[in-house]
Amino acid sequence: MKLIDGKAVSEELKNSLKQDVLEYKKKTGRVPHLAAILVGDNPASKAYVGNKVRACEHVGFRSTLVKLEDTVSQEQLMDEIKKLNEDPDIDGFIVQLPLPKHIIENQVTLAIDPKKDVDGFHPVNFGRMAQGMPAFLPATPYGILLLLKRYNIETAGKHVVVVGRSNIVGTPISILLSRKSRSGDATVTLAHSRTRDLPNIVRQGDIVIAAIGIPGFITEDMIKQGAVVIDVGINRVEDEGSLSGSRLVGDVDFESVKGGCSYITPVPGGVGPMTVIGLLLNTFKSANKEIYS
Ligand code: NDP
Repeated sequence: MKLIDGKAVSEELKNSLKQDVLEYKKKTGRVPHLAAILVGDNPASKAYVGNKVRACEHVGFRSTLVKLEDTVSQEQLMDEIKKLNEDPDIDGFIVQLPLPKHIIENQVTLAIDPKKDVDGFHPVNFGRMAQGMPAFLPATPYGILLLLKRYNIETAGKHVVVVGRSNIVGTPISILLSRKSRSGDATVTLAHSRTRDLPNIVRQGDIVIAAIGIPGFITEDMIKQGAVVIDVGINRVEDEGSLSGSRLVGDVDFESVKGGCSYITPVPGGVGPMTVIGLLLNTFKSANKEIYS
């Protein structure tokens, strides 16, 4: 079994991006600028946004954090989005999820200018992605493609089983891997909570991608010998042995699965850091007007 080291790959890509940003600055006299809207004080969201801000500093981007109370109204949030849409210095921005229950998430997604939608959640980017047109790819699926490429894991002709069909992970990665392209050409099965005989289906996967949100859901008996296992899940579980009383685990039961597979991503340190680099690369593409000219 080979460990897919997302942390190391993301560091390599960040260092290379840092050089590209220096060139960009020399050429244009400005630096790429990413903004994030953070609503409320959910500790996980704060940690994710903190990682993104630190990553911006690392590669030489400017970053702006817009913090809003969790009592913010839909209108106030829409105003903030409008400001970022109209600010010519902002290349891209994200609205960190989840949002408080009273906020209509779809309206938020639709309000973001697709040209600045570096999370790739807007239906315009999603549709362009599905049709193989230039688009901001959703950051986590983009990160998974980069990992597969870095480890020379062939997808053409392979059977990929994706478990989980969210709009931000499962569905887009299933589309990307089934597209007629060098990073796709796989035969993809998209499984979910209504799938019958899930273990039998997962066992057919040459590549298994777990994006479920249930700790240790994928177990040894579901994985074919030699399969590639990509664990997207990030779940906090109690751990009396750790100082904080908890630790992060994936959707895959890592200890039982690792023996029989060919490659596996750890949690933490697998897909998570790749999501951040996906976001940075999208922002750099936006600054260079690579997707929308
Ligand atoms: P969602 O909760 O939006 O979707 C979960 C999916 O899992 C749904 O499609 C659901 O099916 C499916 N599911 C739930 N229970 C079962 C079951 N018993 N059998 C089969 N399928 C099931 O999750 P996300 O995609 O947003 O996130 C998934 C995980 O990935 C979470 O742990 C999240 O924290 C993590 N994550 C990690 C990121 C990273 O950067 N590494 C980025 C984003 C998410 P149905 O549609 O039928 O309800």
